[in-house]
Amino acid sequence: MEKTVQLYEGKAKKVFATPDETKVIVSYKDDATAFDGTKRGTIVGKGVVNNKMSNYLMQILEKEGVPTHYVEELNDRETVVKKVEIVPLEVIIRNISAGSFAKRFGVEEGIVFKTPTIEFSYKNDELHDPLMNEYHALALELATKEEIETIKAMAFKVNEVLKAYFLKLGVKLVDFKLEFGRLPDGAIVLADEISPDTCRFWDAETNEKLDKDRFRRDLGNVEDAYKEMMRRVFGD
Ligand code: UDP
Repeated sequence: MEKTVQLYEGKAKKVFATPDETKVIVSYKDDATAFDGTKRGTIVGKGVVNNKMSNYLMQILEKEGVPTHYVEELNDRETVVKKVEIVPLEVIIRNISAGSFAKRFGVEEGIVFKTPTIEFSYKNDELHDPLMNEYHALALELATKEEIETIKAMAFKVNEVLKAYFLKLGVKLVDFKLEFGRLPDGAIVLADEISPDTCRFWDAETNEKLDKDRFRRDLGNVEDAYKEMMRRVFGD
């Protein structure tokens, strides 16, 4: 399948139309942004890592019964996915305190939760993605009650599958962000990406950060962290 016109360019990806109007091609860039787009940079090779890792994880999730937008990897940076209408919610699951959770509630990073948490943000750049609860999402008709229930169940299922998967690779899945989409028939599928851009990964032995926090916090060895996560998933 080939790209036709560019439909959209985001911070980390471009999306192209294809001759099949039910499919689009996503192209992953090396561009990185943080803090609401105020910090910008390049992480060499990131697009390849995110494309390949996300595709691999989506295939694992499909096998475990989680429907996704994944169709076919075309090359290192490009993938065919089902065209969806994105539900404008960022769905965040947390297993261990970090990032905005630690800041908001005034606790240290690294507290292991007995029960994972879920939260929603309204995907809206002008409003800077405000935190919202499911009643707010319902009130604004961002999703139906049924869709929200489906999204919550799918997000916790993704967490159980990926937490176990990464632990076998010596990696703690601290937290992550998911996005969901609607197919033309109304079915909800997992969309967007699952990668070191959208997850916090800590080495299980040393708690070394192996994700975008190395870029956000200027910790150095950013490319190495992405490469290391690639190595854990795909081997040498
Ligand atoms: N996250 C993301 N995109 C966002 C915000 C968060 O992918 O726009 C991911 C982030 O990588 C982390 C998780 O969601 O794995 C929780 O992020 P948090 O709310 O702690 O925000 P941050 O500290 O990254 O600003």
